[in-house]
Amino acid sequence: MIGTDYRIRATAAGGLLRTVAVIATDAVERAQQIHRAWPVAAAAMGRLMTCAAMVSADIKQDGGRMTVEVDGDGPVGRVVAEIQPNGAMRARIQNPSVDLPITPEGKLAVGQAVGQHGVFRVLHEDAEEWYQSQVALKTGEIGDDFLHYLVQSEQIPSAVSLGVLVRSDGTVIGAGGVMVQALPGCPAEIIDSVSQGFENLTQISRRLADGDNLESLIREVLPEPIFLYPRESLAWHCWCERTTIAHTLGSLPRQDLGALIADGGAEVTCHFCRTAYRFSASQLRRLRDGVE
Ligand SMILES: [Zn+2]
Repeated sequence: MIGTDYRIRATAAGGLLRTVAVIATDAVERAQQIHRAWPVAAAAMGRLMTCAAMVSADIKQDGGRMTVEVDGDGPVGRVVAEIQPNGAMRARIQNPSVDLPITPEGKLAVGQAVGQHGVFRVLHEDAEEWYQSQVALKTGEIGDDFLHYLVQSEQIPSAVSLGVLVRSDGTVIGAGGVMVQALPGCPAEIIDSVSQGFENLTQISRRLADGDNLESLIREVLPEPIFLYPRESLAWHCWCERTTIAHTLGSLPRQDLGALIADGGAEVTCHFCRTAYRFSASQLRRLRDGVE
């Protein structure tokens, strides 16, 4: 995939510090355009897409798909971000047309849009198995909730800084973040210095919008020597397929298919990319009769 979005992993302190950094500006911009998301909704999707790219960094190349979702009691409703091992990402949001006043700190009110009551959930699926893990939302700001998830599920000290910079017209100009995890045995003074580095790492989306690369952000938080892995491309791509949707339609109860046929056909829209798949009555009849 060609684009400017990428993820990079790094280690330091002899492998006791693990870092993943993500820039996903183009993918989040695509998400904003496809869903015609208003700024706070675009930020919620973008923050969640960044989490998905971070949490999937350690899965093997053939390791299946990861889904990260927030399901809170705020006006945007459920937000879902998914990523494949090849870096293909997609996202959806229940209500993209949410407008809320900027917070007193001058930020988009993502916590209010998502809500403070609900769950933050991570699902990993591959050919053989799947697992799901979830925590209660803390603030709905997504970065905080992701950190809470990491600490709860993996029980190791972690730090996360992520953000999305959106212009008032909805254009996404910076999206991404950095996370660091300290493995057991990591000296306290190293953890302290990383925490200090994170405190100085503010306005990450602005830094990315201004063209800073992830390697330079990593150097601000990790102590030398740092081992950087190769960059991995990320890009917006929806993997919905007509054949999968046809299969789903074909497995509907006979009377439901019959009703669609009587209506003259059906149109199914992908919730992720908004592509509309049209099935004529005769195509549905063939699906019902198991011909297609
Ligand atoms: Zn799609």
